[in-house]
Formats: sequence, C-alpha cells, structure tokens
Amino acid sequence: MKDFSKRKNAYLGPVCKHGHDHGGGSWRDSANSTCFECTTERIKRYAQTDRAKAKRKEAKKRDKDKIKLKSQEYRQRNRERIAEYNKRYIEENKHWHSSYFYEWNAYRRAHKLKATPAWCERQDIILIYKEAKEMSKGDIKYQVDHIVPLISDLVCGLHCLSNLRIIEAKENIVKGNRWWPDGPFDLDHENGGTHGLDDRKKRLERAKKALGVA
Ligand SMILES: [Zn+2]
Repeated sequence: MKDFSKRKNAYLGPVCKHGHDHGGGSWRDSANSTCFECTTERIKRYAQTDRAKAKRKEAKKRDKDKIKLKSQEYRQRNRERIAEYNKRYIEENKHWHSSYFYEWNAYRRAHKLKATPAWCERQDIILIYKEAKEMSKGDIKYQVDHIVPLISDLVCGLHCLSNLRIIEAKENIVKGNRWWPDGPFDLDHENGGTHGLDDRKKRLERAKKALGVA
C-alpha cells in the first residue's frame, strides 16, 4: 500500500466506504475530502479503459507530429549549415566510410551463402575493416581476408571475427579462394596444385597485371 501520509494536504479522516483503513482512518485530501486510495484506484481503472487508451494514442501521435514538424522547421532554417556539416563530416571520415561499405559487401556476400552465423560480431568486424583502411593510408594497401574462404569447391568459411585477418591487398588477390590453412593448395602458384589450376593461373595473371607485378 502506498504511503499517503506524506502527501500535501493529507489528513487522517474517517475510514472510506471502500474500507481503506490506513490505521484508524483513511488518508484523505483536505481539498475535497476524498480518500487518496480511492482516487488512486479510480485513476488506475480509468487508465485501462478503451477511452483512456485511445486518448493516450492520440496524444502520442500529436507529440510525434509536433516533433516531426519542429525538426522539419529546424532543417529548413539551417539547411545550409547542415549541408556544410554533412559535407565536412563525410570528408573527414571518408576512409572510414568506405570500410563500412567493404564490410557490408562482405556481409552480403556471406549472407547469400548462409555464412553469417547468428553470433557474427558485426560491430567488432567493422573495426577490423576500419583498421585495414587505417593501415592503407601508406603506400601498401591492406584488405580484410576471410582466412577460410567464404566459398570454394571444398570449404565454406564464416563471416566472423575468428575467420578474419588483415593482409596485404596483393596477397589477398593472389590467394583468392583457393588457399586456407592446412588446405590442399600451396601458395606456390608456379608449381600449382591439382585443383582449379587453370582458374588460378588466370586469376594470378590478372592480379599481377592489375598490381603491375612482374
Ligand atoms: Zn477509499
């Protein structure tokens, strides 16, 4: 039971007709002598009615509309300032922006292959992509690599933290999806494996060409 004795204007009057006995009487409102507990119960009962629910809903919508209108007005009034801010923000965060894009691309690719486990830690994964981007500020470009490839003829790795690492971009391109730890192919492409050799050779040639490596 609530303690009504602390209420402003509370006085201990006769026990009300609903028998709310707060120790020899009911705490009542000196303004109109009503029993505080009766009032509380009445308010609670009213809140459960359809009428009250409809009113709450209406009020919520009104508030929402009001906020919407206000922010619309704000954007109107500050259009140039906001545009300026957005432009500056994108400029300052350019290299990070693209890491979201790269991660999203990998995620989509993985998702298609059902290689995104429910626990796939995307918030943390983004950080790896950001780090790769940060490292690429210099001459050497880095990429995020799925250690076990998302898809190859033999295995399907996962888009998750433990399967990601940062490696040099040219290494990643050469690696393609033909190599993973303890896999059947070595990275010595000149000697080649027995599987998908032609495809690999083509890929390697393409990569060398793209990177200007002899
Ligand atoms: Zn009462």
